[in-house]
Amino acid sequence: MNAVERSKVTVGVLALQGAFSAHEHALRRVGVSTRQVRLPRDLNGVDGLAMPGGESTTMSQLLESSGLFGEISRRIESGMHVLGTCAGVILLARTILDGRADQKSFGALPITVRRNAYGRQIDSFETNLDVAGLSEPFTAVFIRAPIIESLDGDVEVLASHDSQPVVVAHGNVVGVTFHPELTDDSRLHGLFVNRIINSLETNRR
Ligand code: GLN
Repeated sequence: MNAVERSKVTVGVLALQGAFSAHEHALRRVGVSTRQVRLPRDLNGVDGLAMPGGESTTMSQLLESSGLFGEISRRIESGMHVLGTCAGVILLARTILDGRADQKSFGALPITVRRNAYGRQIDSFETNLDVAGLSEPFTAVFIRAPIIESLDGDVEVLASHDSQPVVVAHGNVVGVTFHPELTDDSRLHGLFVNRIINSLETNRR
């Protein structure tokens, strides 16, 4: 088997709006190179893409105006790994509830998400979660997070909170409804990078 060196892996971070620099730091802590993605050409040579939290309606507009929407869609379809967190998972969902009428999504994760679903009382909170593949609990920071209301296809649930899935995976797509980039714990980014490396190693065989 050819081992892929982490430092040779480049993960793009969608840098149109939102918490993108925290994702870059988290990814660098797990040993990969990062690149800010603002234009279609920034995607050349990236092995994966992280879509940060922020405001999914604004990101949807900026994805269109930058020309990134179509290019990212094509790449996800041809197997590019994506990690969407909070607004990012909304952008990846097949069905969005309480979205804006003109809000677009990549439809790459067969789930239904409801935006801002925790309501005003607890629109931000922190909790410790058991995540499949991690031996110790992960402190999850939820900020005006979406709720995954249904799984509409073959979706792996890696973590749940109050019996609702909060970390899910479907092929090359990982969705996290909270903000794993906002603590010093990079283990979820580590799991994402392992998925990228497994694919690169499989493709080399
Ligand atoms: N409520 C935001 C949205 O709908 C997501 C919040 C977040 O990313 N922290 O896009």
